[in-house]
Amino acid sequence: MNIHEYQGKAILKSFGVRVQEGIVADTAEQAVEAAKKLKVDYNSDWVVIKAQIHAGGRGKGGGVKLAKNLEEVREKAGKIIGMQLITPQTGPEGKLVSKVLIAQDVYYPGESETKEFYVSVLLDRSRGRNIIMYSTEGGMDIEEVAEHTPHLIFKEEIDPKVGLQGFQARKIAFNLGLSGDAFKDMTKFIASLYKAYEATDSSMFEINPVLKTSDNKILAVDAKVNLDDNGLFRHPDFAALRDTSEEDPTEVEASKSNLNYVKLDGNVGCMVNGAGLAMATMDIIKLAGGEPANFLDVGGSANAETVKAGFNIILSDPNVKAIMINIFGGIVRCDRVSQGVIDAYKEIGNIPVPIIVRLQGTNAVEAKKLIDESGLQVYSAILLKEAAALVTKVLENK
Ligand code: GDP
Ligand code: MN
Repeated sequence: MNIHEYQGKAILKSFGVRVQEGIVADTAEQAVEAAKKLKVDYNSDWVVIKAQIHAGGRGKGGGVKLAKNLEEVREKAGKIIGMQLITPQTGPEGKLVSKVLIAQDVYYPGESETKEFYVSVLLDRSRGRNIIMYSTEGGMDIEEVAEHTPHLIFKEEIDPKVGLQGFQARKIAFNLGLSGDAFKDMTKFIASLYKAYEATDSSMFEINPVLKTSDNKILAVDAKVNLDDNGLFRHPDFAALRDTSEEDPTEVEASKSNLNYVKLDGNVGCMVNGAGLAMATMDIIKLAGGEPANFLDVGGSANAETVKAGFNIILSDPNVKAIMINIFGGIVRCDRVSQGVIDAYKEIGNIPVPIIVRLQGTNAVEAKKLIDESGLQVYSAILLKEAAALVTKVLENK
């Protein structure tokens, strides 16, 4: 589950990670109130207004603006709230901004230069361990650094038996070229950041930039946090952090019925039990000349309720020209799935596209017979080859 920057920063702060202080606002008026609370001295300091969307690259898209007085806060926050923000990570349609974070400008001048770093904590799947990735080249062009000068990005692997060691935090601060107070502060920053990552069961923390201020403090200016969905049951309070307006509405609907659904761009909807079989089914659809409209894993219990929920979700996509149901009856009996399909079909009423049902496993023959005798516009198959031929046939008739 992705969360917003302001929520990620609140989590970091609760673990003792220093962050750029800020207050979230829904309207220009609230933004002004927030800026007043921040007690900024506008003779020397500014405030920054940051669009809150589940995508990075906001700076480049015009979603991060500085204001040097309250009038500018009102004007710029008013412009950002309600805008369709397009960044390199949102896709061409952009994302609607409904909140802004009003924060203290931490790039104030002082005794030394400010410096932006990159630090992230994530799981390295190939090593099966968490790693801390970091670079002196933080800021808005980290993607280009990764592409053109990958040797400037360092990795520190954490041994799960002993956790992050003091020498590792010091090595990171050293490689980032720090000394004195900034060095010490960075080691503390890294230790608290890693503690927060582990304690929240996260799968990614990306802090870009981590800033060294002109008075040698280390703090998080940005926070991109991904909480591992599989760990959410251990953190009931995180449910409140979910922002479903940032998610695909059909995917939200599907998760309510415990269906694993991912929308795709094709014309053949598919409903399958098991992720591996779903992948194979998508291949079969392509081989038959179609394009999968979705990935949908109905899980272990394919009954009338789940089949009905699956139908409704697939049919909400206007591109769907046919639906392929591919169920392996291992624990679930095929004839019960057939009955589920028939019941769901009758309950929904007129389904405007042909349906191909391929059932294999326990009671497959009885299951096929049920479908064939139902009188509905449902084609049945036992072999995948037959199902594929049916997909080709119904697409040709369209
Ligand atoms: P992103 O573009 O979505 O990753 O958003 P960030 O939070 O990283 O902000 C983008 C850029 O805005 C940063 O790299 C900074 O250069 C700049 N920025 C963010 N906060 C401040 C601030 O308080 N003062 C100034 N001067 N610049 C800031
Ligand atoms: Mn950033």
